[in-house]
Amino acid sequence: MIWKEILIRYGELSTKGKNKMDFIRRLRENIRYSTADLGHLTIRTEHDRMFIALDNEEMKDALVERLQHVFGIQSFSPVAACGKDIEEMKQLAKDVMKQYEDQTYTFKVEVKRTDKKFPLESHALQRVIGATVLSTYPNLKAQMRKPQIEMRVEVRMDAVYIMAQVIQGAGGMPIGSNGRSVLMLSGGIDSPVAGYLMMKRGVRLDAVHFFSPPYTSDNSLEKVKDLAKELTKFGANVRLHVILFTEIQLQIKEDVPENMSMTATRRMMLRAVDKVREDINALAIVTGESLGQVASQTLDSLTAINDVTTTPILRPLIAYDKLDIIDIAQQIGTYETSIRPYEDCCTIFTPANPKTKPKVEKVAHYEERSDYEVLLDRAVKNREIYVYPEKKKVEDKFADLL
Ligand code: ATP
Ligand code: MG
Repeated sequence: MIWKEILIRYGELSTKGKNKMDFIRRLRENIRYSTADLGHLTIRTEHDRMFIALDNEEMKDALVERLQHVFGIQSFSPVAACGKDIEEMKQLAKDVMKQYEDQTYTFKVEVKRTDKKFPLESHALQRVIGATVLSTYPNLKAQMRKPQIEMRVEVRMDAVYIMAQVIQGAGGMPIGSNGRSVLMLSGGIDSPVAGYLMMKRGVRLDAVHFFSPPYTSDNSLEKVKDLAKELTKFGANVRLHVILFTEIQLQIKEDVPENMSMTATRRMMLRAVDKVREDINALAIVTGESLGQVASQTLDSLTAINDVTTTPILRPLIAYDKLDIIDIAQQIGTYETSIRPYEDCCTIFTPANPKTKPKVEKVAHYEERSDYEVLLDRAVKNREIYVYPEKKKVEDKFADLL
C-alpha cells in the first residue's frame, strides 16, 4: 500500500487563539468517536494540522468517507510515502496521479526539501517528477498559477511524502466546543435543519419533542425518533426527551380563547423545554422558527412566546426562505423523513384564525385559570429519554461527551 497517513487541515480553528488547544482536542475526540468501529486510530496533532496513520487501503477509503461529515475539518488529503530514492519517487508520483487519468486537469509539482542532504535540490526534483507525471498522463497540462491539481512532494528526514488530492471537509467547529443546547424537534422540515446548523457551529444537542396521544400517533413519534437518529451522523450522540403534552393542551383548550390558544401552547412548550434545559445544564434553546412563516412566527407572536423565559433562544433559520431550508434538508438527508405524513400536536389544536398579534397580558391572564406550573413539572418529570445511536457501545472515555 502506498498510503501512509491522512493530513487534516483545521481551517477556521487556526484563527481561534487561546481556545485552539481545546478545539483541537475536541476535534480529535470527535474523529475517534465517529470512527470508533474502525479500531483505534493513531492520531498526531500539530499546530495547524493533524495526521491519522493508515494501516491499509480499506481504512483509507473508510476514513475518506467518514471525515467528510466531521465538523471542524476544513479539508484533508491522503498522503503517500516511499523511500528516499529517485526511482521510487517517480513511481509513487505516477501512482498518486493515477486517479486523475480520465479527465483533463491543469497541474503542477511543489517540492519541499527538509533533508538538505538529499542529492537533488528542489528545482531539479520538481522538473524530474513533473516530467515523469506529464509524460505518463497526457491529459494533464502544466500550469504554474492556480492549477487544479497541486502535487506536493516533501523530502523529510525519514521518508518522502507525496499528496495531490484535497478533499473538502464539512467546515464549522467541532461539536462540543460551543456548549450544549436543547433543540425543539418537531416532525417537520425546519427543526432538524436548525439542529444541523447549530451542530455545525460546535453546539452539542439534546432534543425535546412534545407528543399528544391519541391526537398524534405512534407513527409520528417514530418519525421524530428517526430524525433524532439522523442528526447523530454528524458525529455526536443525541438524547431525545419525549414529553406527553395531551393533558396540558386539553387544559389550554379549556382556559384560553381559541384565537390565543396557539400562543399559549407555544408558551407552555417553551416553559417545559426550559425546565429540561435547566435539568441537563444546557445553555440555550434552539428552534426551527423562521420569521413570518406561519401565524406563530410573526415578530409579535415570537415576542409573546419568548416572554416566558430569559434563556437565549437560537433561531438559525429566522431569515431563511422555505426553499433554502428544503435545500439544506435534502443535502443533509433529513428531507425524506420530514415529509413522511404525520400529525403534529400543534396542527391538531390549531385554531382556524390564530392571532398574528397576540397580547402577552391577555394570554397570561387566561393562563392564570389553571396551575400550569404543576402540570408542566409533572410532564417534564415523567418524560421518556432515548439515546441515539442506540446500539453502538459508547466507550468509557466518551462518557463525558454524552
Ligand atoms: P418544523 O418544520 O420544524 O415543524 P414549522 O414551520 O412546522 O417547523 P411550527 O410547527 O410552527 O413550524 O414550529 C416552530 C418550531 O417549534 C419548530 O421548528 C420546532 O422547533 C418547535 N416545535 C413545533 N412543534 C413541536 C413539537 N411537537 N415538539 C417540539 N418542538 C416543536
Ligand atoms: Mg411543525
